[in-house]
Amino acid sequence: MKVDLHIHSNASSDGEVSVSDIIDMSIKEDLKYIAIADHESIDNVQNALDYAKDKDIAVIPAAEIFVSHKGKLLHMLGYGIDIKDAALNEEIAKIWKGRKEGVKKQIDLIRSKGLKIEEKEVFDYATGDIPLLSAYIHAILIEEENRDHRLVHGLTNDIDSIITLSREAFGVGKELYAPTYMPSSEHLIKVIINAGGVPVIAHPGVDIKEETHILDELKVYGIKGVEAYYTSHTKKQSEMYRKYAIDNGLFYTCGSDFHGSFKPKNKLGCVQTDNNMQAIEGIYKYSRNL
Ligand SMILES: [Zn+2]
Ligand SMILES: [Zn+2]
Repeated sequence: MKVDLHIHSNASSDGEVSVSDIIDMSIKEDLKYIAIADHESIDNVQNALDYAKDKDIAVIPAAEIFVSHKGKLLHMLGYGIDIKDAALNEEIAKIWKGRKEGVKKQIDLIRSKGLKIEEKEVFDYATGDIPLLSAYIHAILIEEENRDHRLVHGLTNDIDSIITLSREAFGVGKELYAPTYMPSSEHLIKVIINAGGVPVIAHPGVDIKEETHILDELKVYGIKGVEAYYTSHTKKQSEMYRKYAIDNGLFYTCGSDFHGSFKPKNKLGCVQTDNNMQAIEGIYKYSRNL
């Protein structure tokens, strides 16, 4: 039985595929369970549940939310959540409100480093009324006079340049990093559990690597699973996190992190665990909504 528990639809700013297309594609891939896990959004979950009804596939309501864990940025997945839960919706609204209010602060910080940036350009590149990092970066890279700036030097306005600048200048603690509201891991795990959901840590091989003490801490806060199998994880990493999960009474999941053309390597259903049933049973056992 094939599953994919980490899929982004066009409710994610960097996703582009509609949930109906995702479900049709997933059925073609013979996936039996999928989770639509958009960034800080549950807007498409109901559509997905409706569209999958009477089809040979089950959709698990989910979201992927950035959290700070002792100064480190982690991605938390919540499965089987009640998408009508008031506190969960308030938390998501608070994150977006923070991003909206952070626009001026981000632009001021960029200007303070001697870079030219026009607010109008930032909003021209925004999806909806809230610009994401890529919009600021576009707006920096199109300015002719930024060409020789030490941060921009050698970059053009293509996707690789955007990724490079985002990593080198906008990452946590880097010089153009302007923090906006982000829930702590402990708080968000509570919100997910109170919404009847099941917290699972996403792609530990990307953010946590060998620091398994972080997994110990997250387990104390209440995570129930580890995304051990992930597109960019090495075989060794997957085996390490699988073993960690088993040794610690957690279940382990797989996710492609499908985004459409933004992340071409992340194909629907491209990674599977050796036992998907334990993942599905884990989610259904702990969720109060499934
Ligand atoms: Zn992620
Ligand atoms: Zn993701």
